[in-house]
Amino acid sequence: MSIKNNIEKFTQTLPETCRLIAVSKTQPVDKIREAYDAGQRLFGENKVQELMAKYEALPHDIEWHMIGHLQSNKVKYIAPFIHLIHSVDSAKLLAEIDKQGKKFNRTINCLLQIHIAAEETKFGFSEPEVMQMMESAQFKTFQNVRILGLMGMATLTNDTTQIRNEFRHLKALFDTLKTIRLENVTMAELSMGMSSDYALAVEEGSTYIRVGTAIFGERHQH
Ligand SMILES: *Cc1c(COP(=O)(O)O)cnc(C)c1O
Repeated sequence: MSIKNNIEKFTQTLPETCRLIAVSKTQPVDKIREAYDAGQRLFGENKVQELMAKYEALPHDIEWHMIGHLQSNKVKYIAPFIHLIHSVDSAKLLAEIDKQGKKFNRTINCLLQIHIAAEETKFGFSEPEVMQMMESAQFKTFQNVRILGLMGMATLTNDTTQIRNEFRHLKALFDTLKTIRLENVTMAELSMGMSSDYALAVEEGSTYIRVGTAIFGERHQH
């Protein structure tokens, strides 16, 4: 299957409530261009330098999504153009995004990454941590960030019941947080589902699936 065919398959089968982010990390610019020519406009990257290089090289009507762990000292590079940061995993990072948003006179859209997987290594807030941050006095002072929702990654397993339960758990937290009214929060987006588990994620209420290998094939090594 070509990249074009893969994109078309997704756009024909996804419900209107869910959008496809083509995860182009490690893929060369010409592959991204192929997806772009097939109509794809939302792309996801997980490394700041790679993201900046691709932003420079490709048309500016692309919506760039930062989906990987982000270091505070690198926020300044993507702050001028990033569409949505999916991987906000600390109050410190959010404070820096707010600061850079102010500097560039933008409100930067963010998702809070929640740890839902059984694996220890994945980044993200626990439920009590996210509650605590949103209730903090510091959080209310952020004027140049907008929290649009949550992001999560399920455990890498073949156990679909476990994966479904993890997605359900994230959706339940999303629904709970929706009831908290704050100036800088609009709980509208739920980023969950990758190549191996997007179908389950869509069934459980995902609004953004992040798909790499199912579009581009195996990743190119750096
Ligand atoms: C790489 C990556 C994806 C895409 O993974 P695939 O299995 O290639 O679809 C999705 N989300 C995040 C956070 C990633 O790092």
